[in-house]
Amino acid sequence: MSFTKTITVAHGDGIGPEIMDSTLKILDAANSNLIYESIEVGEKVYNKGIKAGIEDKSWDIISKNKILLKAPITTPQGGGVKSLNVTLRKTLGLFANVRPCRAYHPFVKTKHPDMDVIVIRENEEDTYGGIEHRQTFEVYQCLKLITLPGTERIVRYAFEYAKSNGRSKVTCLTKDNIMKLTDGLFHDVFKTVSKEYPHIESENLIVDIGTARLADTPERFDVVVMPNLYGDIVSDITAQISGSVGMVGSANIGTKTAMFEAIHGSAPDIAGHNIANPSALIQASVMMLRHLGQFTQADNIQNAWLKTLEDGIHTPDIFNNDSKLKASTQDFTQAVIERLGQKPATLSKVSTSGAVNFQIPALKLSRSENKPSATQKRTLTGVDVFIYWEPQNINLLAQRLNDAASEEFELTMITNRGTKVWPNGNPETFCTDHWRCRFKSMNGKATQFKVVDLQKRLTKHAIDIIKTENLYLFDNEPAFSSGQGE
Ligand code: NAD
Repeated sequence: MSFTKTITVAHGDGIGPEIMDSTLKILDAANSNLIYESIEVGEKVYNKGIKAGIEDKSWDIISKNKILLKAPITTPQGGGVKSLNVTLRKTLGLFANVRPCRAYHPFVKTKHPDMDVIVIRENEEDTYGGIEHRQTFEVYQCLKLITLPGTERIVRYAFEYAKSNGRSKVTCLTKDNIMKLTDGLFHDVFKTVSKEYPHIESENLIVDIGTARLADTPERFDVVVMPNLYGDIVSDITAQISGSVGMVGSANIGTKTAMFEAIHGSAPDIAGHNIANPSALIQASVMMLRHLGQFTQADNIQNAWLKTLEDGIHTPDIFNNDSKLKASTQDFTQAVIERLGQKPATLSKVSTSGAVNFQIPALKLSRSENKPSATQKRTLTGVDVFIYWEPQNINLLAQRLNDAASEEFELTMITNRGTKVWPNGNPETFCTDHWRCRFKSMNGKATQFKVVDLQKRLTKHAIDIIKTENLYLFDNEPAFSSGQGE
């Protein structure tokens, strides 16, 4: 017996209202113990000139109810508008994005009849901070931030998910052969945390070949965990090859609040035609019911939905030669409702699996007594000064930088787009108007004041500084990348 729960509902844009209407009808028909409190988000709010796409009063409702069922929304292009989806995930601390991608063979066509992959995407970090700058006439930058607590939390979540759901393997996808510090951290944390789960197999693959294998032989994968951007791309690929992006729901889990949504967007191309597949949002609502402990209702809806697929009642996106009825959104909804209480014959029926809320172990690497800030020594050793300079004679630039360095710092390297061009650059290296000039402390005793003084001297020498990045040693180990070709 579960208690009645008030949840926040956002009907969204495009096909959003149609598939939300379908989902709520099914939830009601299955006697879910839910009360709905609606909020307006997305296009209508953006059109009022509110760039966040959400009003303050809606935040209050979300915080009060703690559970949000959200239909997709349209993100306007340009105009300084921020993606509401990203804002919701980050503001509410919804760190884990869980996307179960399973084949429904032979009823929904797929080249991968045995696939059953859980994609777990880190949901707050990486390039999704949206910290971008145009720095020079030719160069634009997006900051990729990967943190120790953010990584530890998502990796622990992936292993706990595997443990709680009887999964046997967790695969991590990173690009740490190139991004040795950021993706290297993700990989290192994965290796460390995996040791606490000896009964679960673990592997790390480079994201490019890992994604290729996932698209080719998804049945060899079980739970897959990765940073935000890779997860965004990989989860759409995985959903599509399982049958359709219109079939996969997504749980966004935080420590206090959770949001459930379809993985697909607002599909403006088919909005208002009563042909959208409501399955992804139905799947999201089933995950939500499990999150709320309403397992009987969750299983009832899931089994009726599987039976509907088995009976060949298919929306146009999954309609195939063996389908029996090309169903509208409303036909499909009615068919699921009529099958409540029934079980599928071929597709494996469900019983209380797929839990998404369980106790995540406390963060040990980043927040315990042994946290790095308590045990490691951090030493300032130099500074990378990024400058705007139209490509000319590089030796003249080096001379000017050296003159400004004085006896405190030594100019050790100039790179362009990460490739060393001084000393001993290759004339074939293409250069833009954006240069990184690396200064190392002569006596190993750099200070913030000395770095600021260096900047003053550089400015006096007519050097146009865009930004600086301090160079640190952690326990005497360099914590900055070297130049390509250095
Ligand atoms: P989309 O997922 O909306 O559509 C991609 C294709 O899949 C389209 O051909 C569409 O018709 C089809 N499709 C999607 N869902 C379907 C369904 N349930 N049934 C049948 N067919 C379906 O992606 P898009 O066109 O790139 O984006 C449209 C808008 O949605 C954009 O403004 C984007 O920013 C937004 N978006 C929102 C979310 C979200 O709210 N979580 C996620 C992704 C994209």
